[in-house]
This record gives sequence, structure tokens and C-alpha cells, in this order.
Amino acid sequence: MRRSLADVLNAATGAVPSFTCYTLEQASGVITAAERLGAPSCLLLAPSAFNGPGGALLASCLVAAADSSPLPIAVQLDHTTDLDLMRAALDLGVTAVMADGSKLPFADNVELVCAASELAARYDASVEAELGHVPGSEDRAIGAKVGAFTDPDLAARFVELCQPDLMAVAVGNVHGTYPSEPRLDFTTLTRIAERADLALSLHGTSGIPDTQVRQAIRLGVKKFNVNTELRRVYLESAQHLFNVENKGFELLGPLRQLIQRTDEAAASFIELAAASPLPAAPLET
Ligand SMILES: [Zn+2]
Repeated sequence: MRRSLADVLNAATGAVPSFTCYTLEQASGVITAAERLGAPSCLLLAPSAFNGPGGALLASCLVAAADSSPLPIAVQLDHTTDLDLMRAALDLGVTAVMADGSKLPFADNVELVCAASELAARYDASVEAELGHVPGSEDRAIGAKVGAFTDPDLAARFVELCQPDLMAVAVGNVHGTYPSEPRLDFTTLTRIAERADLALSLHGTSGIPDTQVRQAIRLGVKKFNVNTELRRVYLESAQHLFNVENKGFELLGPLRQLIQRTDEAAASFIELAAASPLPAAPLET
């Protein structure tokens, strides 16, 4: 059942794993894993994919996947400042948007999130904002360097002013691959969680060691985004599958393999969320 991101966050007992899906096989693999493991989840629609050829079809495919699932599933248009793009996605049935004004001056970021919230409210949809900036490309792994962290005091003021449903934080995480092992700043994360009274999200989870993801969840991260790892698994499998001799030009077999590989990769993150203690619970070592 398709639900707003806020409803999915409420329905989940732990953090909500969220996966960028560029293809039908990825959507199918993620949904299969989520249903097998009983995990309310979020399907992420990349704005670059939505804006490109077949983008509306992809959005409708993700919406249909959520509709047909017995689990609460959200569909979110990811990072954008474009209110028209948000409206187009909401018209097609997405249940959340990420109004990402993290590269804008503070006041403009607030203004963007307020406008997005007003728009999303008409559709009963949720809004995720970002303060501080998570560097790197969402679509390509480029080994981005860590940028400026989210300021906890500014975060409190930001939330007061525009009240998003969820806020993405920059605490040592980047989009894409990490040039060296990431070290999340848990002191900053704790201070943000203390000062800003809302659910937090972690972007760039691919490549962060499990122990650090678990600690982030314990400290207040209620949603985490996975993209690079699903792309890596998909492309490495595709390179192998489509290079093997296939005299009958059979397509279904390789596509099923891609669904299976995506299912396995998504399942590992869903299991990580399920094994993570809730906020304030003691962390097992
Ligand atoms: Zn992101």
C-alpha cells in the first residue's frame, strides 16, 4: 500500500531503508526483498531519471509497485529545488519529495521547504529537507570529499521555521563512494538530534561500515538512503550477464538475475536496519 513517508516512518519499528530505483528490475528486487523481510520501505526516484526519457513511466512504475505491496511503501522524488518537478511527480502519485535547498543560503532554503510543504500538503505527501550539504553526485560514484557538517543550532532554527517531516544531515557522509573509510561525527549527530525535534535521515549509506550505520540509527537516524551499492551490484551483474554467449538472444533470464542480485543487496541493508537498536537502546558490540 502506498503511504506518505511520514506514515511509513510511523509504521516502521526501526529506521526505514530507502533505495534509489532507476529501472524496473531494481524496483522489483527492492520490493521483493522488503516484502520477504516485512520491512516498510521507501522507493527513491532520482530527479535526473524523472527528468529524462521514460521518467514519467518510471515514476508510475514505482507508484504501482507501492500500490500493489501489502506493506506500507513510500515513493519519494529525491533531491530537487524545482517546485514544478515536485508538482509533476506528486501528480503521478509520489508520496514524498526532498526539497533540497542545502546549496542555497539559509533563508532561501527555509523558503523552498515552506513552499514544498504547502504543495505537498495538498497531496497528503511528506517533505524531507537538507541542512548542511552532503557532497558528491547522486548518480555517479566520484569519491567525493566530506563537506561542511550540519550546524546543530542552525538545524534547530531551521526546523522551527519550516517544519519538514524529515531532515537530511551532513555528518561525514557523502553521495557515491568514499575515498577512505568514512568516520561519521556522532558528537555532531547527537547534538543535532537533541536540538532539532524531528526524524533525521542519512544519505550516502553505501560504504559506511555497519557499526556506524547502527550507531547513527541509535542516535536518531530514522531513514537511510542507499543508491551506489545497488548501482554497483546491478552494473557488475549486467556486465557479466550480457557478456556471456547468448545465441538465442534471451533477455528474461538475465533480467531475472538482475532482480535477484538487487534483492540480495537490498536485503542486506534491510537486515542491517532490523538489527539496529532503537534510539536510546544500548548498542551491542
Ligand atoms: Zn541523497
